[in-house]
Amino acid sequence: MEKKIYIIQPTYRKMDGKKVKGWNQFNHSYNIPMLSGAVPDDWKKDTCIEYFEEINYETDAGIILLLCMGYDIMYAREVADEFKRLGKTVIFGSHLDKFSEKILFEASDSVIHGSPGRKEMKMVLDDALYGRLKKVYDFGTDLNYRFDYSSLKNIRMPYIQAVMGTGCRNNCDYCCTAGVYNGKYRMRKISMVIGELKEISKLNKYAAFNDSNIYNNALYLRRLCREITANKIGIKWGGQATIDIGNDDETLAALYESGCRILYIGFETISHKNLKSISKSFNPDKYKELTAKIRSHGIAVAGYFMFGFDDDNKDTFEKTWEFIKDAKITLPLLNVLLPVPGTRVYDRLKQQNRLRFPDEIEFGNTSPLYSVPCYKCYFKPLNISSALLEKKYLELYRKASRIPEMIKRSLSSSFSDSVKFFLMNYGLRKEYRKMKSEFGNV
Ligand code: SF4
Repeated sequence: MEKKIYIIQPTYRKMDGKKVKGWNQFNHSYNIPMLSGAVPDDWKKDTCIEYFEEINYETDAGIILLLCMGYDIMYAREVADEFKRLGKTVIFGSHLDKFSEKILFEASDSVIHGSPGRKEMKMVLDDALYGRLKKVYDFGTDLNYRFDYSSLKNIRMPYIQAVMGTGCRNNCDYCCTAGVYNGKYRMRKISMVIGELKEISKLNKYAAFNDSNIYNNALYLRRLCREITANKIGIKWGGQATIDIGNDDETLAALYESGCRILYIGFETISHKNLKSISKSFNPDKYKELTAKIRSHGIAVAGYFMFGFDDDNKDTFEKTWEFIKDAKITLPLLNVLLPVPGTRVYDRLKQQNRLRFPDEIEFGNTSPLYSVPCYKCYFKPLNISSALLEKKYLELYRKASRIPEMIKRSLSSSFSDSVKFFLMNYGLRKEYRKMKSEFGNV
C-alpha cells in the first residue's frame, strides 16, 4: 500500500435529507489542521472539508480517516460504507464520546478516541500499513504538536478556529465536555499556539478559539494574550469562557489588547434552582453586573441559553428575553436542552423515565437528532409540556431575530465589529426561518 492518507471532515444531513454545505457553526475548521499536523512527513496526504469541497471517491489513498464529532455520525457512516465498498481502509478519528461506538465499529476498520499526536499517528498508520490495525485506539487529548493549517488555504471562511487547550475545570451535568473530561483540562504550549496563530493570520483576520472554556487557567490566558500582543499577530478573535471572567479586570484588559472582541458565555438559565440542579456554581443575580464589566473592557458578550430545565415554566421565556435585553447581550444563542448520552442529565432523565427516546441504541439510530434541530424537546419537562416548550422557544427565537433588535444588539464602538456582529445575528434569522418552516407558524 502506498503511504497516502485522505483526511475527510464529512458534512451532515438536515432533517430534510439535504447535505449541509458552506459555513455553519459545526464545521470546526481546526479538525483537519489538527489531524493533518499529526501525519508523519514520509506520508502523502490529501484533505477534504465537505462543507466546502466534494469528497473524491476516486482517491488513490489507501487509508481514509474520517473526522466525525457526533452530530455528523449517521452521514459519516454513509461515507465510510462507500469507501469500504471501494476496498479502502477506513478509520474514524478524534471521536470523543463512546456511546456511538457500535455505529463506528460497524462502519470502519478502526476507531481512534481522542487526538493522536505525531507519534501515535505514526503508530496507527504503520499498523494499517502492515495489516495489524486495532479495532480501537484511545489516545487522550494531548494536542502539543503543531497543527497544519495549509489545508485551509483555498477555503473562504468567516473566521478560522484555533485551540489553546482541551477540557474544562467545571463539571456541569448537561455538558458533553464534562462527560468526557470530568472537570479536568489541559493547556497547549503557548509557543505552539502562537505559531499557529501566525499561520492563521495569513489566511484570515478573524479567529475563534474552539476551547470549551478559555478561562480554565487565568495565568495561562494572560500569558498567551501578552504573547499575541507582543508578536503583533493582528487578528481579532473570540472564545468561550465562564461568566466569572467578569471579576478579572487584569485578564479582560489583556484579552482586549490581544484582539479579543467577543466572549461566548454559557449563562444557560437565570434560575438559581436550575443552575443548582445542573451543578453549575454561578450566581445569576450577578450575571448583569459581570456582563457589564466584560463589556466595559470593549468585549461584546454572546450568551448561551437553554430551556427545559426542571424550574422552567411558560414564564421563563419572557424573563430570559428581558435579561437578554437588559444585559445587552450581543448575540443570544438559544437552545432547548438536549439530553446527550454520556451526560448526567441524560442519566437522570432516563432514570426518571422522562426521555422521549428510550436508550442509546435508539438515540444512535435517530438520525434527526444528529441534525441538531435545536427547538426539539426530546424529554418530558417538569413544569411545562414539551409542545408548549417548543412553541414558546420559537416565539422567543422570533423576537430575538427581528431586524431592529439585531441592529440594536450589534452596535459597538467599531464599525467593522458592528457589521461582523450583525452578520452573526443574521444567522439567527436564517435559523429561525428554517425552524419555522419545519415547525409551522407560531
Ligand atoms: S463551564 Fe461550560 S464547558 Fe465547562 S463543564 Fe460547564 S458547560 Fe461544560
